[in-house]
Amino acid sequence: MDKEVLEALNDQLNSELYSAYLYLSMAAYFDHMGLSGFSHWMKKQAEEELGHAMKIYGYIYSRGGRVVLKEIKRPPHTWNSVLDVISHALEHEKRVTESIHRLFDLAREKRDRATEVFLHWFIEEQVEEEQVFSEIKQMLEFAGETPQTLLILNSRLAQRK
Ligand code: MG
Repeated sequence: MDKEVLEALNDQLNSELYSAYLYLSMAAYFDHMGLSGFSHWMKKQAEEELGHAMKIYGYIYSRGGRVVLKEIKRPPHTWNSVLDVISHALEHEKRVTESIHRLFDLAREKRDRATEVFLHWFIEEQVEEEQVFSEIKQMLEFAGETPQTLLILNSRLAQRK
């Protein structure tokens, strides 16, 4: 595999691991606030991110590349409000989307068709990731961050399988 593509895939793997770390930190913040439904939802999100990282891990080896793990950045551990957490998560996912698009462009430039096809799943997944965070953000903005809204959302988010 092309060196630059391999390096970018390893960077993306790191960024998925950071996402898992960030969402686990958000889950811990919610647990600290007594919002166990929000926390449950974020833990599921963190697991999903670990799944994304493992998908890239598997792909690198299937192409004869080597996984080289790097340092994972320390995530923040406190926010100003629930809306602040969700907005942060949405902004984070938008940056992840951009980085996957850049990776796709690089694969195309290097004429690496297999990597382009591999990335199709991630491109679709990002649409969904941005959508779920946008929905929660909209509900919070629409209903306002009152105790009532938080409790309703908390029981709804607790149901994520
Ligand atoms: Mg991800």
